[in-house]
Amino acid sequence: MSKCPNSECGSDSFEAVKANVKGMKYPALFIQCAECKTVVGTEPAYYVPQMLQDLAKSLELPPLP
Ligand SMILES: [Zn+2]
Repeated sequence: MSKCPNSECGSDSFEAVKANVKGMKYPALFIQCAECKTVVGTEPAYYVPQMLQDLAKSLELPPLP
């Protein structure tokens, strides 16, 4: 089980929060401790394969494999 790196916290509960980061063109998702909000990782806020599927759909292309 993953634990919060904050030794005073030690929670094993995390959450993803959309955040705007200066210098980044797109929002990021911060993976952070649900208790003390220490950030343990980041992800792009957009799931690229899903974006491509949505784009294909809006262009009325057949679904991608
Ligand atoms: Zn914590």
